[in-house]
Amino acid sequence: AGTLYVVATPIGNIADISLRALHLLSLIDAVACEDTRNTAQLFSRYGINKPLIAAHQHNEREVAEKILTRLRAGERIALVSDAGTPGISDPGAKIVEVLKQSGVHVTPLPGASAAISALSASGLLHERFYFVGFLPAKAGQRDSMLHKLESTDATLIFYEAPHRITDTVQAMLTVFGGERQIVLARELTKLFEEIHRCALSDAPAWLSADSHREKGEYVILVDAKPVAESNDDSEARRVLSILLEECS
Ligand code: SAM
Repeated sequence: AGTLYVVATPIGNIADISLRALHLLSLIDAVACEDTRNTAQLFSRYGINKPLIAAHQHNEREVAEKILTRLRAGERIALVSDAGTPGISDPGAKIVEVLKQSGVHVTPLPGASAAISALSASGLLHERFYFVGFLPAKAGQRDSMLHKLESTDATLIFYEAPHRITDTVQAMLTVFGGERQIVLARELTKLFEEIHRCALSDAPAWLSADSHREKGEYVILVDAKPVAESNDDSEARRVLSILLEECS
C-alpha cells in the first residue's frame, strides 16, 4: 500500500539537507510534519509548496490512519519533523510503527541528527554509544536514571533543554564523579557552535563563564566509565589449585 518517505531536515544550518530529499519533496503529494509553520518556513527557502498534515505527539495514530488512506489512494507522502531525523526524540516513531503494521513500505532519506553530529566531532573514542535522549524533567527520576546509567560501558548521549543544562550537568557531576570526561556540544551547525570537552568537575565553570551558554540547544556526551584495573587474582588462584590437585 505505497511508500512513506521519512525525511531528515537540518538541525541548524539550512544547507544540511540532501539533494535527494529536496528532489523527493518537490515530487510528493503531501508532507506530515511536527509544526506546519516550521516546515512551511523551511520549504519556502527551497521554493517547495506542498500540503502539510500536522502530526504531533498526541495525534500520531490518527495521522497514521489519514496517511494510510491517502497512500492507498495512490498519493506519495513524506514525514518530516521540526529538525533532524523524525522519530529521534521527535514525533514520527508511532506513525512509522502503525504504517509498517499495515504493510506500508517505509524508507528513510537520511540526514542530520544532533546526536550523531555531536558524537562525530566529540573526540571521544566511541566504539559503543548509548543514546539516552532527554532525561526525565523531575530531579528524583532524573537522578535515578543517571544512577542506572553510571556504569554503562558506552559513551552516553543526552539531549537537553537550555533552561536545564546547568542543573543536569551538576547532577551528572554528583553521580558520575568529577574525573569523567564530558563533551558539551552547543548550537551545532549554527553561528555560535561550541563543542567543549573537559572533565566533569570543570563543566559548571565552563557553563557559567559566558551567559550565552545558558541558552541554545545542547547535546551532552559522557565518556564511558573507565575500566578499573583489577588486582583480584582469586580466579587464577582457584584454577591453579584445581590443576595442582589434578597433578598430585
Ligand atoms: N530529531 C532531532 C535529531 O534528529 O537530532 C532531535 C529533536 S529533539 C526535540 C531536540 C533536541 O535535540 C534539543 O533539545 C537538543 O538537545 C538537540 N539538538 C537539536 N538541534 C541541535 C543543535 N543544532 N545543536 C545541539 N543540539 C541540538
